[in-house]
Parts: sequence; C-alpha cells; structure tokens
Amino acid sequence: MVTSATHAPCEFPCPVRTDAGRYARLIADGLYEEACEVIVRTNPFPAVCAYICQRPCEAACRRSDVDAPPVSPAEGEPVRARVAVVGAGPAGLAAAFELARAGCTVKVLERLDVPGGMLNVIPRYRLPLEALQADVERILSAGVELHCGTEIGREVTVSDLFQRAYDAVIAATGLSRSRGIAVPGFGARRFTAAIPWMTDVWLGNKVDLGERVAVIGGGNVAVDVARTARRLGAEKVCLICVESREEMPAEPHELELAQAEGIEIVPSSALKRVVNRDGRIAMVELMSVVAVFDQEGRFNPEYDPPAFAL
Ligand SMILES: Cc1cc2nc3c(=O)[nH]c(=O)nc-3n(C[C@H](O)[C@H](O)[C@H](O)COP(=O)(O)OP(=O)(O)OC[C@H]3O[C@@H](n4cnc5c(N)ncnc54)[C@H](O)[C@@H]3O)c2cc1C
Repeated sequence: MVTSATHAPCEFPCPVRTDAGRYARLIADGLYEEACEVIVRTNPFPAVCAYICQRPCEAACRRSDVDAPPVSPAEGEPVRARVAVVGAGPAGLAAAFELARAGCTVKVLERLDVPGGMLNVIPRYRLPLEALQADVERILSAGVELHCGTEIGREVTVSDLFQRAYDAVIAATGLSRSRGIAVPGFGARRFTAAIPWMTDVWLGNKVDLGERVAVIGGGNVAVDVARTARRLGAEKVCLICVESREEMPAEPHELELAQAEGIEIVPSSALKRVVNRDGRIAMVELMSVVAVFDQEGRFNPEYDPPAFAL
C-alpha cells in the first residue's frame, strides 16, 4: 500500500478523482468560488452530483491507507481533432467537455430533443431540472456544440460522420433499455418495466397506474418508481424484493424516506406470477426467498415453494 502526500484517501474512490479534501478546506475557509473551481476541474456535472452522487469519498474519509495513486492528467499540447460524440447523456457530455478542453472541435449528436440522457428520468424531487441545466450549460460554454433530434444509425450513419471529416466518433449511447422480467404476465396492461414507465412520467405522457401498485426490486430505481407512483396518487404502494431489509441495495436514506411516505417494503419475496382477470391485475403471487446469495457470494436466490398473494 502506498500513500501519497498530495492525494487524500477520499479522492481515490471518486470516479472522477475529485479533490474532496481541498474543496472541503476551501469551503471551511469561506472560499466558495475557489472550491467550485477545484470540483469543476475533474467533474463536468457538479450540480447534478450535488444531488445524486452516492458519496464514495465519505466511506474512505477515515481510511489511513490507500492503493497507489492514479497518474495525474498530463498537461500537453492541444489536440486539434474533430470529434463527433453520439449521445448527450452524462458519459457523452463528459467526454465532449474533456475533448473540448483539450483543444478538439466537438459536436454532440443526440436523438432526443434535450440533452441529459437518463438523468432526465431521475425524479425532479431528487434531481432538480435547474441543476442538470446548469451543468449542461457549463459544458456547452466550454465550446461543445450540441445537435439534438438526430439519431445516429437512422438519419445519419457513423460512416457518414467519417465522410464529413470527423477524425473520431465516440459512442456514448447508454443502456436505457429495461431488461424486463421473466415472469408470466409481463408486458400485459399495467405490468411494465421501470425505464419506459419513468420515461413516460418525465415526458408528461399519460401513465396508466391504478390505486394499488407493486414495484418489484430493491434498488434505487425501484425506490424512485415507488415514490413517483405515490406522488401520482397511488393509494397503496409496495416495494417487493428478494433481498432481506438489510441486504436491499437501495440507499438506506432513500428507503427511510419511502417508508415515511407510506410505502410498504415487502422483503425476502420474489414475484411468481401476475394474474390478470377482465383486463385488470387481479393478483400478484409471490414466493418467499430463503437465501439471496449462494456460498460463493453470487446472486442466486433460493425459494421456499409455497406461494402467497398480495
Ligand atoms: C430512475 C433512475 C434513477 C437514477 N438515479 C441515479 C442516481 O441517483 N445516481 C446516479 O449516479 N445515477 C443514477 N441513475 C443512473 C444514471 O442516470 C445513468 O448511469 C447515466 O445516465 C448513464 O449515462 P450514459 O451517458 O452512459 O447513458 P444515458 O444517460 O442513457 O445517455 C445516452 C444518451 O444517448 C442517446 N442515444 C442513444 N442512442 C443514440 C443514437 N443512436 N443516436 C443519438 N443518440 C443516441 C440517448 O437518447 C441518451 O440521451 C439513475 C437512472 C434511472 C433510470
């Protein structure tokens, strides 16, 4: 283990190596502008992260020892390449920001009408639109050109981009499709995946909800869906997950907020099937889960066969 005199332990778990020690010191000294400059040096989304970062630096704060320090970004000659970035989510915009600061001419091509990708789908009560817009504006003001409403592979191909004299194309198209769930009844009316449903909420499309809502999953997205359903007027919302309450992957604070909003958590339970009758969901059938992980620590739930209904 090597400890660097110039890098605080909290810097290492941060995906963008934010110098948290330095900006915290500057804030303590009342030097807020200077603290912002330290953050923006490595993080193109400081306002967004202020709301939704999972704060890995805090867990490392009191660590006495860390792995070998990363190599600091080298100062070099400006790069003069023309780069097209496909996708204006956080990955594409962050890449564009870095490239523009390195001297490249960068154009971001986004299929939707707005930038931000899946950040748009995060509920507004958790990530205000102004925070996202502020970060996007800062990125664009670094010289990044944004072109929305163009789907690469449809209107324009990657070969077209090279023919238009781009030196490089970066694909940052994300993973915005839900996997769905291999349970009988999936895809029937009101039995839907999270991301299309949250996308409809974001776009203001009419969402078909009903009064009693079962959300399957124990992670942060499931909590977002449950809390959003409550806000849209669902009277009873259950969060059903295979994990025990202690094993749930969602942030403990988010779970506490969900419970305070009246959301019921149904742990150690797996969905067996959804029974439809007369075009309506008549019953959600569950199985008890006796173990989530196998002896090697792999996700491999073991069920107790008798099913029960909600
Ligand atoms: C409900 C929800 C809550 C979340 N909460 C958090 C959280 O609290 N903290 C956190 O850190 N993360 C959270 N995330 C995850 C975070 O939003 C994603 O990790 C992040 O957006 C992924 O960034 P990305 O740029 O790789 O992809 P995306 O955000 O998916 O962006 C990809 C972009 O590429 C565009 N695109 C795709 N194909 C094409 C094409 N052919 N041509 C042009 N454009 C194209 C898409 O329209 C999209 O704008 C959450 C996600 C969801 C859904």
